[in-house]
Amino acid sequence: MGKFQLPLFGAVARKKRACFFSLHPKDKAKKFSAYAPKAMTHFATKYGLPVLEDPADLAAFDLVFFSLHCFRDFYLIARMAHHKRTGQEWIAGGNACATPAGVGWVMDYVWVGDCRESFARILDGEREMEGMYDPRFPDRPVRYIDEDLHTEALSPSMMEMSKGCPRRCLFCIHPWRHRYQEAPVEAVEKFVREFPKMRLGLMSNSSDDVSYYERVADLLTETNKQDMTVSNAVQSFSERIAKQRKADMLFGVEGVSERLRWIVNKPISQALLRDKVDLCLRHAGKVRLIYQFNLPGEEPRDFDEFERDVAYFNATHTKGAVALTFIPNQPTAHTPFQWLTPRYSLATQDRLMALRGRLIGSGKTGLGLYLPTPLGPRSWFSQVVAEWIAVTPKVDAAVAKLPARAEVPEMVDRLAAAGVDLPPAFLKRDRDTVFPWSNIITTGDDPAKWKRYEGMLRKLSGARFANTSTPAPEAWDR
Ligand code: SF4
Repeated sequence: MGKFQLPLFGAVARKKRACFFSLHPKDKAKKFSAYAPKAMTHFATKYGLPVLEDPADLAAFDLVFFSLHCFRDFYLIARMAHHKRTGQEWIAGGNACATPAGVGWVMDYVWVGDCRESFARILDGEREMEGMYDPRFPDRPVRYIDEDLHTEALSPSMMEMSKGCPRRCLFCIHPWRHRYQEAPVEAVEKFVREFPKMRLGLMSNSSDDVSYYERVADLLTETNKQDMTVSNAVQSFSERIAKQRKADMLFGVEGVSERLRWIVNKPISQALLRDKVDLCLRHAGKVRLIYQFNLPGEEPRDFDEFERDVAYFNATHTKGAVALTFIPNQPTAHTPFQWLTPRYSLATQDRLMALRGRLIGSGKTGLGLYLPTPLGPRSWFSQVVAEWIAVTPKVDAAVAKLPARAEVPEMVDRLAAAGVDLPPAFLKRDRDTVFPWSNIITTGDDPAKWKRYEGMLRKLSGARFANTSTPAPEAWDR
């Protein structure tokens, strides 16, 4: 039998012996690895539950909680499902559980949404609850639980400063899942003042969109502390914040061109993007830019613009570091993007890898530009299908045998040849499509979602960028 940590405090006699199971053990000698989901760490500590890392230890428990944060976790569950013993109850929660169909085949229940106010009731045996998905009734409506933002710290070094997002990017789950809320500034200031170390976490989708973030930035400087500034919106990043920040900075740029950013409702102009990156590099010397590829309407001219931006950064700065992280778009459930047919462009992947090669070693002669290898087609496809079908051991095995590189229709055909069928709507969606997650009702669920999708299609066929010429990328020799 493997080892697991018993709780140091708070263990109470309950009818059921309960535990968490960690899918990502990094250091088995430690109670919580660096990759442990924050919610799992929080609840295990608060309620004195052991965190298991070896499935062989599960048999001693009647109730097992899982915190699932990405769709790859669904495959990890498939690989350990045979450890579930008769009479044992499994309950999952976590970000990935807003689309619970993929794990319903093995979970007894799936909690959908925030859980701080409900966890104790679930632990005590309550199951008939508004946010509880019961796989025996897969079509029954379940309301995503969107709790009021808590000021209680999530961990000794982390608290939630804001939740949701005041903007409305069409691909992004945050505005469609939660209403936007900010913690009272006094609670954030108290947390910063009392935190004993230098680096702390003020969780927010976009720190500089928080109405009082400049005040918090002043306090961080005054107390010689740093947080990671996330500027998902980019527009709000100011000179005042730039001057004070020495820690990591992250910009959610998303579209590679002004045209694509406008289409997905993230209207960051090219000039503004260049200005904000300049600001960052002048003051902090480094920034991470997050982009997506496979956005709707994407064309080679969009990547031409991106390469001109890269050339501009290279010509304008002689030192510092810019990470250019690319994420393949996955049409996100519950957002206006859910009507998009999933697509992974191999040609775009080739282009990114070619640029990655050209950038290697750039830091030796000037600005260090780094483009990490993006997620490849097979891993991406495995995530996409996990929202549509039960991820059983059979599906896990079939996905593992898919070619590493293929376009979506070929992947679909290969799965079918292995006896795994996707519903027709996977490749053909319309206004009346019933998604596997259609019974999950989120805070932002309203008819405007479809209208926004239609609006995006109108933009795509509109005149605004129709005649954009494609000047050659600015020369930049290496
Ligand atoms: S600004 Fe960022 S967090 Fe907000 S909706 Fe857009 S992508 Fe999402």
